[in-house]
Amino acid sequence: MATFDLDFSLHQGEFTMAFTVKVEARALALFGPSGSGKTSALEAVAGLRTPRQGRIAVNGHVLFDSERHINTPVRHRRTGYVPQDILLFPHLNVRENVTYGADVIKIYSNNTPNRGSLSVEEMRAIVDEARRLHVKVTAHATSDEAVWRAATAGVDGIEHAYQVADSTLALMKQKGIFMVPTDLDSATVLRYASRSQGRFTATPAQVPTFVNGQRDRLRRAIKAGVMIAAGSDNYIDLGMPQGDAAKHNLFAYAEAGMPSLAILQAATWNASRLLGLENRVGVIRARAFADIIAVEGDPGTDIHALERVRFVMKQGTVYLNKLSVGRD
Ligand SMILES: [Zn+2]
Repeated sequence: MATFDLDFSLHQGEFTMAFTVKVEARALALFGPSGSGKTSALEAVAGLRTPRQGRIAVNGHVLFDSERHINTPVRHRRTGYVPQDILLFPHLNVRENVTYGADVIKIYSNNTPNRGSLSVEEMRAIVDEARRLHVKVTAHATSDEAVWRAATAGVDGIEHAYQVADSTLALMKQKGIFMVPTDLDSATVLRYASRSQGRFTATPAQVPTFVNGQRDRLRRAIKAGVMIAAGSDNYIDLGMPQGDAAKHNLFAYAEAGMPSLAILQAATWNASRLLGLENRVGVIRARAFADIIAVEGDPGTDIHALERVRFVMKQGTVYLNKLSVGRD
């Protein structure tokens, strides 16, 4: 049992929200329409928002009390907070999703391994609506037919494209559609096999049979002039954090023969253009996000230098600094 003793008010845009709950229960669930303040209330309990006034106590621990000037720091609150990070509601249309805050529309052209797929006409309607609302559309497509349908409908980017004909690549090039190859490097294939408890086997000698098709289509795409943006879209558990998996995706590009500088561009500038964020991400300039890393070595010639991160700045805040420059 937990005791929730919450009585506070919060500024919510133009409004002031008053929140009062006093209950002893195993769980407390908040229901209400979008915009009614559920997330704000939870953020106040977690310490991510400061109420205007009032009191927040959980299990007798006073986390916030405006009169007594108590405002326990987040790290001492013993609360976990899982933010809502999925803004796409599949049952809503493009316009409604954008209203709820989606700034990119992701659809599936085919839906591997399920049989569902979208028609060219359906995707065209989605693209038209997204264009009007100035948001980009990217499509999951694994087969040549699915890539062709999405490209014909005029999406901005296509994830995976494991199988794709040269004629479809020509269509992508002509329409300026990005390809987002989600490829496995050799190390990841072997790692996946070692964790699969016999469901999937691969020896080092067998790795080429798994990766050659991906490598070949990336080379053909580059040769056709299709723009490449890096993105992992990892829908299988590779047994590593998403950030690591995303890095290995870049190493897969290198194994296909893509030059390091082109890979770095795919992961920064091209990816930002695909998302319509080219003034804020993937560039170093005034008013852009100050997201900067420094690595040991020259990633422009050796992409594996990305495994030696020595400095991380995220939106102007330094999170890691192991640089020894000028410190002697
Ligand atoms: Zn996908």
